[in-house]
Amino acid sequence: MSIAGNLQRVRERLAEAERAAGRAQGTVRLVAVSKTWPASAVAEAAAAGQRDFGENRVQELEEKVPEGDSSWQWHLIGPLQKNKVRKALPLCTMIHSIDSLSLAERVDRIAGELGLRSRILLQVNVGEEDSKSGFSSGSARAALTGVLGLPHLEVVGLMTVPPFDPDPERVRPFFVELRELRDRLEVDAGCSLPELSMGMSHDFEVAVAEGATIVRVGSSIFGERG
Ligand SMILES: *Cc1c(COP(=O)(O)O)cnc(C)c1O
Repeated sequence: MSIAGNLQRVRERLAEAERAAGRAQGTVRLVAVSKTWPASAVAEAAAAGQRDFGENRVQELEEKVPEGDSSWQWHLIGPLQKNKVRKALPLCTMIHSIDSLSLAERVDRIAGELGLRSRILLQVNVGEEDSKSGFSSGSARAALTGVLGLPHLEVVGLMTVPPFDPDPERVRPFFVELRELRDRLEVDAGCSLPELSMGMSHDFEVAVAEGATIVRVGSSIFGERG
């Protein structure tokens, strides 16, 4: 199938998930994860109406952003090394992967130097997996308090990559955990955290049922990565 055909199918799945969850059509933002795929694949998706793209490496952002249209929005969804912050900030609309307070402080400082305000999500390692980055649920509160004091950051929500399970129903508890954590943090810190970035190709319907506002979908749109 073509990228346009795949995209159409993903949009139908997303619309059905919104309907099933009693949520208004178009309320969930679809980020097409184009990592490892060339700029030509991104252009194909864009020709089919896609505007939000996700990359997990700054180097791929550097390669693809200049090739694209300035109306496209790029999301950094992978680990951000401190020495890449200055390059990354002007290239992306949102950083999903803020996983330490020291990284947040650095992003804040450099955003200030560049005259930007960065929209960020705190990444939470809901499965507490050693292989994944992110705050533990228990440490997210202190991190949020720290981040809320940084003037050049706008923290808009939480992101997670739960443990992989081919059965999306077994991933559901992790999506619930992220939503409940968000709800508690909003009350405790007295702030608004509207965005929940959760759900990928094989499980985004369940994520939408549990409150995702952003889903990150790669292989269902572009194909299996080599
Ligand atoms: C690759 C990736 C995705 C997309 O995964 P698919 O299974 O291809 O949809 C989503 N989120 C993150 C953080 C990723 O690295």
